[in-house]
Amino acid sequence: MPGRSTVAIHADRGIAPSRAVAPPIHQTATFAAEDAEAFARVAVDRRGHDFYTRYGNPNHAQVAAVVAELEHTEAAMVTASGMAALTTAVLGLVSAGDHVIGQKSTYGGTASVLLNLLPRLGISVTQVDQTDLAAFGRALSPRTRLILLESPSNPLLQITDLGAVAGLARAHGALTMADNTFATPVNQRPADVGVDLVWHSATKYLNGHSDVSAGVLAGSAELLDRIWDVALLTGAVLGPFDAWLLLRGLRTLPLRMPRHNANGQALAEALQDHPAVGRVHYPGLTTHPQHVLAAKQMSGFGGVLAVELAAGFEAADAFLGRLRYARRSAGLGGVESLAVHPASMWRGMLSEQQIAESGVPLGLVRLAAGTEDTEDLVADVLAAADSVK
Ligand SMILES: *Cc1c(COP(=O)(O)O)cnc(C)c1O
Repeated sequence: MPGRSTVAIHADRGIAPSRAVAPPIHQTATFAAEDAEAFARVAVDRRGHDFYTRYGNPNHAQVAAVVAELEHTEAAMVTASGMAALTTAVLGLVSAGDHVIGQKSTYGGTASVLLNLLPRLGISVTQVDQTDLAAFGRALSPRTRLILLESPSNPLLQITDLGAVAGLARAHGALTMADNTFATPVNQRPADVGVDLVWHSATKYLNGHSDVSAGVLAGSAELLDRIWDVALLTGAVLGPFDAWLLLRGLRTLPLRMPRHNANGQALAEALQDHPAVGRVHYPGLTTHPQHVLAAKQMSGFGGVLAVELAAGFEAADAFLGRLRYARRSAGLGGVESLAVHPASMWRGMLSEQQIAESGVPLGLVRLAAGTEDTEDLVADVLAAADSVK
């Protein structure tokens, strides 16, 4: 079996082969067929790439080939954003009257799908504390079709026992779908422990350069066929150029992740004993309550950490404002460090009660360490923390 970097660079070689070393961009909305028979054939070729770009494009298929091999799944597909991957999959797999289980600590968009969109479609939802394995068992009902997992979770970096929940779900005939955005297949492979579907905001680490919005889904061909049928109708299609950029980003994912891991660990260790800091949430710290589980299912802990400033909201905002390298931005996963203070970002989005219910403390800053030199980032966060002491 070739290693991850070899896979990231060569797994797409057989798709739309060309003598051009860098794959051409198939900037076309549609494809021509030689004759009626060939046309009829490509029109029903699920996840094909020769009919109409909403149905598939060679640039999509190249990304999918690399992602499937990195995630150890039979197949993969691309969408226009991470949220398109989630909503398309959910619409493909559940119907009115079904029940879905999700986590309490989860990405904001996923939380809105669970809280607002699914109930409106007649799909009931239970959100559980992901650190409590038994809570997943208690939430299962005969109507449960799908369990949405996210580990580490955004922004609290809580860990889910992916293998244990996948086993529980399988025994009950339910599917599991894991958001692997924070870990990436370099640090964690949910399919290896039995998770049915893996999805990503490819906007983040997979692309890695903060210049593309994209999503991916990886799993069995049978499940992806069901989702692809819905993807044709939802139409959240990735542009060929964006798919080309995503493939270019994927080539260096296995090179970038070790630096993100090293920077995340170094920032977490540097900040955890600082007097201005109440607590650091990072699964690579031995003080993280789920460190043992994280170390069991992950080979690295990523570049994202959450820092609670001891003095609360104002201190968090001041800390963020003093950072020289990490800019105030909602993104993560790019080569440049970014930081966000959720409680101030949410001022216009959520009520005070909703902010309290999110479980995210007012003094929490999410730091996404880029691939800058470790010493520079450590010196910068320590200087910012000193300034708010
Ligand atoms: C950003 C993000 C998403 C949403 O992805 P988009 O590409 O922005 O639609 C989903 N899950 C996690 C963990 C994220 O960080």
